[in-house]
Amino acid sequence: MLLDAAGTPLRPAEIDRPRPAAGQVLLRVRACGVCRTDLHVADGELPRSKLPLVLGHQIVGEAEDGRRLGVSWLGWTCGECRYCRSGRENLCDRARFTGYDLDGGYAEWAVADERYCLPLPTELGELEAAPLLCAGLIGYRSLRAAGDGERLGLYGFGAAAHIVAQVARAEGRRVVAITRAGDEEAQAFARSLGAEWAGSGAPPEELDAAIIFAPAGELVPAALAAVAKGGTVVCAGIHMSDLPAFPYELLWGERVLRSVANLTRRDGEEFLALAPRIPVRTQVEAFPLERANDALAKLRAGDVRGALAIVP
Ligand SMILES: [Zn+2]
Ligand SMILES: [Zn+2]
Repeated sequence: MLLDAAGTPLRPAEIDRPRPAAGQVLLRVRACGVCRTDLHVADGELPRSKLPLVLGHQIVGEAEDGRRLGVSWLGWTCGECRYCRSGRENLCDRARFTGYDLDGGYAEWAVADERYCLPLPTELGELEAAPLLCAGLIGYRSLRAAGDGERLGLYGFGAAAHIVAQVARAEGRRVVAITRAGDEEAQAFARSLGAEWAGSGAPPEELDAAIIFAPAGELVPAALAAVAKGGTVVCAGIHMSDLPAFPYELLWGERVLRSVANLTRRDGEEFLALAPRIPVRTQVEAFPLERANDALAKLRAGDVRGALAIVP
């Protein structure tokens, strides 16, 4: 399914099977998770993508030798810049991203640099493993960035939050979920995954940390107002609407506001080792490849419990 230009639907197309270059592996795509970033790319909110482009950066693939490999957003880094040399390859100046700079997994076949492929836990099925590769990984990195506080607020209860809630509960934290007003289904889903409170507006008690998954800038002052002194607010998305001005008082008291950008291979190894031990259970709705536009529309409508994935 090809994206020809931002703002247009994906188009079914017959293209040549990609040929692996030196260091790359050819993968038959078994499943590919659908991420909000795919929407941002398709809508042109993240400009300068490769075009035409195959979206998709949560690829569960099978190599020709039978290995099951995961391909995430981080497709390649330079290994030479100051970020790469200091364990921060997620910030590499020349990084290439899957389903953005490189063709991704909304396809029957994909190629990927083998050094960036992640071996997948055997405990999870192909479909269930797909959302671990971005929703799970970015969620995990965001949770680490949020610190060790006991009371965690999750703003937006989509694919990432439904995984992070399970990890946080396993670490003995208390979780609350803040959703759009009236989204009772999302609130019930959050409670089913261990959230002790789920609703809209201000949570019932102070938080030690908050992670914002929804791409809505107005949540930043709301989350800062909800965290205790010394608390951290993490913006987990790659794109967010502009932040409104807010009084300095909301940041005062050593509150920290930060973003999480991309991921490192180390995040991948750590999280994929941790996930089966918890064990993380993902809820995934499958769409056939030719219905990728329907999957994107469903995500855009916010009408998803858990995660979505494309199955060729
Ligand atoms: Zn670099
Ligand atoms: Zn993603």
